[in-house]
Amino acid sequence: MSAQPPQLSAEQRTLATTKSIEARRKRAAVKEAVKSGSLTIFDVINDGDPIVSGMRVKDLLGAVPGVGTVKAEILMERAKISSTRKVAGLGPHQILRLREELSLTKIEPKRGRLIVISGPGGVGKSTITKALRDDSRFVVSVSATTREPRAGEMNGFDYFFYSDEKFDQMVENSEFLEWAAFAGNRYGTPAHSVEQWLRVGKNVILEIEIAGARQIRATQSDALLIFISPPSWEELVSRLENRGTDSPERRAARLELAREEMAAASEFDRSIINHEVNQVITEMVSLLNELDGRNHQPTN
Ligand code: 5GP
Repeated sequence: MSAQPPQLSAEQRTLATTKSIEARRKRAAVKEAVKSGSLTIFDVINDGDPIVSGMRVKDLLGAVPGVGTVKAEILMERAKISSTRKVAGLGPHQILRLREELSLTKIEPKRGRLIVISGPGGVGKSTITKALRDDSRFVVSVSATTREPRAGEMNGFDYFFYSDEKFDQMVENSEFLEWAAFAGNRYGTPAHSVEQWLRVGKNVILEIEIAGARQIRATQSDALLIFISPPSWEELVSRLENRGTDSPERRAARLELAREEMAAASEFDRSIINHEVNQVITEMVSLLNELDGRNHQPTN
């Protein structure tokens, strides 16, 4: 091998060593917590901390009371999880299989929470959802729509782009948790994948418009509905007016719709003002912790 290791300064080496010692300590503390039963393996899987997510499933499972190294290997084989798999790489089916395999030991994940994010057009909902996609405490549901993909949008990632016929069929088969018509197109939340993620303990985000949020309110009693508000009405108007190349009529229609959407705020459990994306996410997490009556962070 001709590749040379990177040349680090003494200072960089010290920093790297300190960081790796801290990471090791944190992982050891998580393992201890699993061993003592104060955390379940599913709490750890849903934790989202990058150091914790980098732990091997085998090590965690082995720490579960009554499991140990040998049984951990057997359980992983049954759940079709490779022995080197890290926590961050687990898919919903694998988590579900683990849950089934561990059910004899009565270690069940707490069901995740359904979280609706709604608010007026132009408030920045999609920027918030984009940031939430990188946070493993959450899963962002991928909606189905009959609208055409915009430049850069990917089928199966941004939306499932379906024909009218396919959408009709899904409505008929009750495959949507909710659906609504918006700006001449239809949008819906596929129920099956949302249910799968909730069962394995993930908090599932639906970024939807107001009519869909009302349906969720009516049918899912434990969903948390969050309304994203602009810092001020003037700020929203300026964001909407600076959008693209809309005709004056289209702009007026957008503003009228935004006025109606703003009036729905009181129907939601909480309003969060979108001053800054990370602040919105921090508020969401503390809201969830408040609702759970405990802190999700296993260490510190
Ligand atoms: P866009 O076409 O700009 O992506 O979305 C238009 C609107 O549809 C946005 O307000 C978005 O939140 C909403 N939307 C996206 N997916 C769904 C869904 O599955 N159900 C409902 N009811 N609204 C959705």
